[in-house]
Amino acid sequence: MLFSDLKLSAPILKAVHEEGYTTPTPVQAQAIPFILEGRDMLAGAQTGTGKTAGFTLPMLEILSRKPFNPKAPRHVRVLILTPTRELAAQVGESVKTYGKHLKFKSAIIFGGVGMQPQVSALRQGVDIVIATPGRLLDHMSQGTVDLRNVEMLILDEADRMLDMGFIKDIRRVISILPQKRQNLLFSATYSDEIKTLCESILRNPAIVEVARRNTSSELVTQRVILVDCAKKSALFGHLVKENKWEQVLVFTRTKHQANKLSDYLQKIGVSSAAIHGNKSQAARTKALSDFKAGVVKILVATDIAARGLDIDQLPHVVNLELPNIAEDYVHRIGRTGRAGNEGEAISLVCVDEYDYLKGIERLINRKLDRDIIAGFEPDPSIMAMPIVQGRGGGGGRGNSGGGHSPSGKPQGQKRDSARRSDSNRSEGRSNTQRREDSRGRGR
Ligand code: AMP
Repeated sequence: MLFSDLKLSAPILKAVHEEGYTTPTPVQAQAIPFILEGRDMLAGAQTGTGKTAGFTLPMLEILSRKPFNPKAPRHVRVLILTPTRELAAQVGESVKTYGKHLKFKSAIIFGGVGMQPQVSALRQGVDIVIATPGRLLDHMSQGTVDLRNVEMLILDEADRMLDMGFIKDIRRVISILPQKRQNLLFSATYSDEIKTLCESILRNPAIVEVARRNTSSELVTQRVILVDCAKKSALFGHLVKENKWEQVLVFTRTKHQANKLSDYLQKIGVSSAAIHGNKSQAARTKALSDFKAGVVKILVATDIAARGLDIDQLPHVVNLELPNIAEDYVHRIGRTGRAGNEGEAISLVCVDEYDYLKGIERLINRKLDRDIIAGFEPDPSIMAMPIVQGRGGGGGRGNSGGGHSPSGKPQGQKRDSARRSDSNRSEGRSNTQRREDSRGRGR
């Protein structure tokens, strides 16, 4: 199938072709016809499948089917909700890219930046709003956004929005939308919570399901390296230098650990930046663009910060720490081996994380090869310690650059939980924490 076989009009096809795309991805091929028919839709698809164009192209097509009067005031006709600022920005970019030969205006609305530019953009009139729920509610309560004419609601990465505790916010937003509208819900997973949300908002939805990326992909080599917690940063630095890696996305469970690893790498002369919920929007955007441009080689991220990042064709993804939720492992390694390119996902696993590893292997239905690197052999006498998640927890024992010298020699001893602190809290599954991360500063 070609894009030209889908019922998209010339200005949209032109923009798609200018991006260099001729063949729709599976989610696009399945979703676009249903959306153009005006159906509600539940799509099981995650980042990297082409889902953004999967909803953006037919959305623009539907908007352009109504006669356009440049003199008439604009109303918000489409509302796209996303869990994170990064994803909102990326979806906003896609809307601009695919809509560049059309006359629609869009606004991206998220927290962490000033309200005023968003208020001005909304006041001038926009057809499409791409927003994170918290900041959108702020605009709703201040009367700076009018959603009474919304014809289409798109929930992108709905599962992640629920994980982040946005369910009440989403319901508040939906409650003021017109009853008659088209609803599209994208989610990588299908939990009971998602099912309940779907039942309450979707009407006779078309169901589109595309194969989970990478779980079965032959293109991603997945490898586990067993190592002591305290030696992980040194091992990572060693791997970067030894293999001459030029671009690596590294995941940690906590913001604290992301900072520590990034600091350590800089100390040993490897350019790096960390992105997580405590970084300002400007700092996150800069880190991402430096990473994309090759100015920094290593981007250290927590799961939340990395969610939805559109970084193509990453050769290496490393889990400095395994995620406490097995699903997040799939999201993480989905960053590599994209679009037909080979990729490598390496997890540095210490004794504390064996249960996480088992959970991941159960989910992906496959046992991962375990390696040991000379000079970083795990000490068999070290006993597992529980990893405490959420508020008041510490995300487990430290494993940062602070635990060893740049040469990789451990400085501390086997039990270093005393280093736990508030800032070492997991960015894992604390809803309150996630809401703070996404909405707290500068709402
Ligand atoms: P998404 O799943 O929306 O995050 O898209 C992942 C990446 O795939 C983005 O970089 C898109 O630009 C790219 N992409 C979207 N549609 C296509 C297509 N039909 N062919 C090739 N790449 C695409």
